[in-house]
Amino acid sequence: MRSTSALEVLVVGGGIVGLATARALLAAGHRPVVLDQGPIPSPLAASFDRHRAIRVTYGGERGYARMALEAFAAWERLFADLGSRHLVETGQVVLGPDEDPWIAGSLADLEALGVPFERLAPAELVRRFPHLRAEAGEAGAFWVPRAAGALLADRIVLGLARFLRERGVPLLEGRRVVGLDPERARVRLADGGSEQGDALLIAAGAWLPRLLPHLSTRLLPSRQCVLYVRAPADLEPAWRDGPLLTHKDAGRGILFYALPAVGGAPAKLGDHRFTAEGDPDDERSAQEAEIAAIRALARETLAEADAYQLLEPRICFYTVSPDERFVAVAEGRMLAVSACSGHGFKFGALLGERIAAALSGELSTAALASWLAGADGRAGQGGP
Ligand SMILES: Cc1cc2nc3c(=O)[nH]c(=O)nc-3n(C[C@H](O)[C@H](O)[C@H](O)COP(=O)(O)OP(=O)(O)OC[C@H]3O[C@@H](n4cnc5c(N)ncnc54)[C@H](O)[C@@H]3O)c2cc1C
Repeated sequence: MRSTSALEVLVVGGGIVGLATARALLAAGHRPVVLDQGPIPSPLAASFDRHRAIRVTYGGERGYARMALEAFAAWERLFADLGSRHLVETGQVVLGPDEDPWIAGSLADLEALGVPFERLAPAELVRRFPHLRAEAGEAGAFWVPRAAGALLADRIVLGLARFLRERGVPLLEGRRVVGLDPERARVRLADGGSEQGDALLIAAGAWLPRLLPHLSTRLLPSRQCVLYVRAPADLEPAWRDGPLLTHKDAGRGILFYALPAVGGAPAKLGDHRFTAEGDPDDERSAQEAEIAAIRALARETLAEADAYQLLEPRICFYTVSPDERFVAVAEGRMLAVSACSGHGFKFGALLGERIAAALSGELSTAALASWLAGADGRAGQGGP
């Protein structure tokens, strides 16, 4: 569907995927209109959190590792538009045994892509990173000094919304889409109204299977908990401008990650095991068991783990696909994209550019879907 004239594109969903695509559509001379069931940005969206990890270690998923490298340049283009740079480069510490397929695959990716890394013996690990347990590094540890960090997610989506509003892009809040007509690029709204464009992008995050029920076997909403914490005073300096942490040991059930206390955000601890249950419209208070599960993982990785003060537990929803790959489906004049499984934010700026190219007809939807699926990797991205 290559188009030489300006298209009016209805974008359903004002998270990072919808907003970044609207920016790229605008740059290409099209007329995006963004609709969201809530405010734009919405605090219930997966994209609205203090920070999100960006890293190249991808467990042997070479397609996503390459995509992550490309994503850094796309973020710089987006930050140039916003006039502020919302990325803190921190490097990454990865803990886990070489026998773990994710660790082995990540090391192979780094070597193949020429991204430098350094192996760390336990004594050196805790000398440089005193907030980690030496025991956690005994199975293996490496340091990736570049191409890893924290994207300040809420500032990015707030900045994008402002950027688009200032350029006259309609951001229509409180418009819940309840019906789709892909052939006519038309949506039906909960308030009884409707909107029609020349093309339709569905970027509805964890709510997407509700709009497209035939995808509900491939995309499951998953309730996830993260903990914002304050480290004990002696370890606070190690978290301030500290590294992104990933601890993987599938044999022992460890899939732990942490983001440092950067950009004004507190440190954040998370668990990359999917619950694959819940409804994004459910009540979102964290349960004791959810908090305890992350605390238990933290004890494997962090020194003085029980001395951390819990500032705020936070519940968030995303969709997961069985192999953690992103999904794109085209039908008539509609394109639906689910870039999630807990690892989509890092690609946001790049996704926006590629999705806009597909909506303009410069990239086939088949090529987009294959690229989004990570093209040449194995299953299991294993982390945010
Ligand atoms: C706990 C957690 C940790 C994560 N960590 C990382 C990380 O470290 N690194 C990383 O790269 N990724 C991470 N992710 C994943 C990342 O946040 C998501 O991949 C990304 O934000 C998805 O963006 P989106 O725009 O597709 O969806 P969302 O941001 O959820 O936006 C969807 C929007 O669509 C709107 N909407 C839905 N249905 C309708 C409807 N019917 N009508 C109108 N509007 C509708 C919603 O209100 C919402 O605003 C994490 C996610 C979570 C939950």
